[in-house]
Amino acid sequence: MLSNLFKKKSTSQKERYQAFKVREVKRETNQAITLVFEQRANEFPYKPGQYLTLILNLEGAEHRRSYSLSSSPDCDQHLAVTIKQLEGGIVSNYIFHKIKSGDTIKVMPPMGNFFLDAKAALKRNLIFVGAGSGITPLMSIIKSALKKEPHSKLVLIYGNKSDEDMIFKDELVALQERNPGRFEVIHVYSRVEKPENAYSGRITGDLIYDLIKTKVEKTNIENSEFFLCGPAGMMQEARKAIAAMGVPDTQVHYESFVATTAEEKPKEKVSSDYQVDIILDGEKYTVQVPADKSILKAGLDSGLDMPFSCQSGICTACRGKLLSGKVEMEEDEGLTRDEIKEGYVLCCVGHPLTDDVIIEIG
Ligand SMILES: Cc1cc2nc3c(=O)[nH]c(=O)nc-3n(C[C@H](O)[C@H](O)[C@H](O)COP(=O)(O)OP(=O)(O)OC[C@H]3O[C@@H](n4cnc5c(N)ncnc54)[C@H](O)[C@@H]3O)c2cc1C
Repeated sequence: MLSNLFKKKSTSQKERYQAFKVREVKRETNQAITLVFEQRANEFPYKPGQYLTLILNLEGAEHRRSYSLSSSPDCDQHLAVTIKQLEGGIVSNYIFHKIKSGDTIKVMPPMGNFFLDAKAALKRNLIFVGAGSGITPLMSIIKSALKKEPHSKLVLIYGNKSDEDMIFKDELVALQERNPGRFEVIHVYSRVEKPENAYSGRITGDLIYDLIKTKVEKTNIENSEFFLCGPAGMMQEARKAIAAMGVPDTQVHYESFVATTAEEKPKEKVSSDYQVDIILDGEKYTVQVPADKSILKAGLDSGLDMPFSCQSGICTACRGKLLSGKVEMEEDEGLTRDEIKEGYVLCCVGHPLTDDVIIEIG
């Protein structure tokens, strides 16, 4: 059930989607490309580390996927995303094989909580741990940090199968050369035995612990911020290793590209249908949410144009503020502690537990 649906579209609803024109397609590796858009950072402001949601209609079905901006708002004129082709993946393969310069893609504006708030006066350690396509948001942050925090030191621990699979290989070499003593890249190759000037194997918690202790201990670990992006296993290991050094959680930022199996938390059973009020673009709509549907699914099924992307509780595109009532989330990894405290919920994994739920989107 939905009331108040057929109102005139408001300005913010129109602004939710943009048509971005591809200016250039750059080949990064055998499996990864960068799409550089005509759109400029001054037209679409973003923070280094944020992502775009690309919306493609393929064979009559709409697909939405998030892609981190690999460009830096402080160094690159044009917005760019870097996409790794995933075996069997619908959208990454389509983009990799079919998209060419001049094409237009529907996108949602930049969003996300994984970003660097650079401050010129700060003198700190910025430590990045990434693997494979996880380098994309890190690259944006690294470029901005090198430009905007001249006193900070940066270390990147970067895992790849081999040298040939490395995204941004040349750009990273150039950044190191331009920033001697300020930026170091430590390579870890999982498919190369005894590599020169690199480590062999996976990025484990022990390796992270040892490397960080060697690189950072003397300049004090408390003054470090960590940025992690890569496979779930690597991020879990990294978080444990960083916690073992006594670094508080608030200094550790991470971005997941895929949903992990959430730790089993005791949950309240969602057993009935509830009515939910959704405030979207300043208009209030009442939606009936059945027990077996998320708030997002019920809203979309009712015809509401609610923002969303991953639909698994990680990207936060469907974030809304809970103004009243109680909502149970299957997963809240994407939200920061502050957002949870402030009452934000993720509609794609959210279920109402009371009949007085009001959620404001946007
Ligand atoms: C916030 C955010 C930022 C992202 N940034 C980037 C980016 O900068 N570059 C990039 O290449 N991708 C990025 N991704 C992942 C991207 O959104 C897609 O999930 C990915 O391109 C696969 O989409 P697909 O349609 O090709 O695969 P699908 O058809 O959706 O999936 C195929 C199979 O692969 C699994 N899968 C999906 N994504 C991954 C993954 N990343 N690793 C391993 N298995 C996966 C699926 O569970 C499924 O089983 C990001 C995701 C999020 C949430």
